Amino acid sequence: MRRLRNTKIVATLGPASETYDMIRALHEAGADVFRLNMSHGSHDEIREKHRIIRQIEKDLQSPIAILADLQGPKLRVGVFANGAEELVVGADFRLDLDSAEGDVSRVCLPHPEIFAALEPGASLLVNDGKIRLTVDSCGADHANCKVVIGGTISNRKGVNVPDVVLPLAALSEKDRDDLEFVCGLGVDWLALSFVQRPEDVHEARELAQGRAALLSKIEKPAAVEAFEAILEASDGIMVARGDLGVELPVSHVPPIQKRLVRKCRSAAKPVIVATQMLESMIESPMPTRAEVSDVATAIYEGTDAIMLSAESAAGDFPVEAVSTMNNVAIEVESDTNYREIIEASRTAPNSTVADAIVSAAREIAETTEVAAICCFSESGTTALLVARERPRVPIIAMTSLRGTARRLALTWGTNCVITTEVSRFKMAVVASARAARELGYAEEQDHIVVTAGLPFNVPGTTNIVRVAPCDERLIFNMEKE
Ligand code: ATP
Ligand code: MG
Ligand code: MG
Repeated sequence: MRRLRNTKIVATLGPASETYDMIRALHEAGADVFRLNMSHGSHDEIREKHRIIRQIEKDLQSPIAILADLQGPKLRVGVFANGAEELVVGADFRLDLDSAEGDVSRVCLPHPEIFAALEPGASLLVNDGKIRLTVDSCGADHANCKVVIGGTISNRKGVNVPDVVLPLAALSEKDRDDLEFVCGLGVDWLALSFVQRPEDVHEARELAQGRAALLSKIEKPAAVEAFEAILEASDGIMVARGDLGVELPVSHVPPIQKRLVRKCRSAAKPVIVATQMLESMIESPMPTRAEVSDVATAIYEGTDAIMLSAESAAGDFPVEAVSTMNNVAIEVESDTNYREIIEASRTAPNSTVADAIVSAAREIAETTEVAAICCFSESGTTALLVARERPRVPIIAMTSLRGTARRLALTWGTNCVITTEVSRFKMAVVASARAARELGYAEEQDHIVVTAGLPFNVPGTTNIVRVAPCDERLIFNMEKE
């Protein structure tokens, strides 16, 4: 699927987006990555969504990334007999360990460790902080609360207790079980919730055994403090603003977002800005001006991807939400200011041959009239380095590995083409020229830049950059090699 923008779009799937037709419409409208949230929905539902995505990928011949988001030590309320209840300011509301379905007076909070730690006066925040309760009295199995800020509470909404320190393990039994399940299905990215230390990522990596790349969700103050080490341990990052804005004052979130996005780019690892990007579109076909600005800001900061949560999972206008992101991205990226900001924030290449090659490729492409940069990348690392350069011309990542192509669907500007393995450089050039023409980025008379590693099929060897014609007769006339 050829896109007219570089910033990628992640769409969460849920009850509003579970049919083949809807998921395909989301992909066609612009969703490059689908997120399956393991906090909601049974394994059977997840398996079915996974099957549909892979079917669409096959039908459209377009690599799609699947991101499975593990719940982590996230605290959640249980379910309600009516699915949802309205909590009004001043009302009493009880949380307890009773697994019976909830109503307007109580609901289950299946976490004894919270009750052990709570004190009267403590605040409990529900659903990304939208509802606020304070504890009047509490015991080992319950807390009687007053509603301070009201709103709709519904099944499995998240709970934060920012005033209380809880002893939380990185991966629960459920997470281990879910991880094994989704790795068995075959997902490209695993998102880890409430990461606090690099060790949390190491632990998941041991369980994943290379079956999926690891994305750390930054949603705890501790993760912001340990960010460098967490980034080093991870393959990608999500700025999970929902919980971050509950655990920290909301005013702290924008500078953190900016800082994390920049650090990810300079480390050549993809970053997603997430949560409430187009929140009003859950119920309205039109976003607010402020939401559009928020999406635009993330794009101007150079994020790899922007994400929809409830807008696409449970809202009334999932396709419209994706189209809105798509249109904002196209508009922002064509602004000359965008190029200036992106170029001013480029960091110097590291002193490796691959870094030097990709930086040279970008300079050549931008100095001359080259139509695209085609990079051979088996592991995806070279493609990530090219993306870090944020070149003005399209990036085409050539790989023989489907898994690499899918994973790169999250990375800024990267179009992936699956090639058969090539053994000679001339064949690499032919395949690149063909891919550039087929994607509509180049015509016969154009030139492209090709990067590769010689000898072929030895990972980590990018060492050649070549300007080549797109006309196959000219390629075959290139000197013998
Ligand atoms: P997280 O903290 O992981 O972001 P969340 O509860 O905020 O969890 P999101 O995936 O961000 O969940 O948002 C999706 C919204 O859609 C939630 O409010 C959830 O209640 C609703 N939803 C209902 N069913 C599903 C489902 N099967 N998958 C995903 N979301 C669902
Ligand atoms: Mg979260
Ligand atoms: Mg969320």
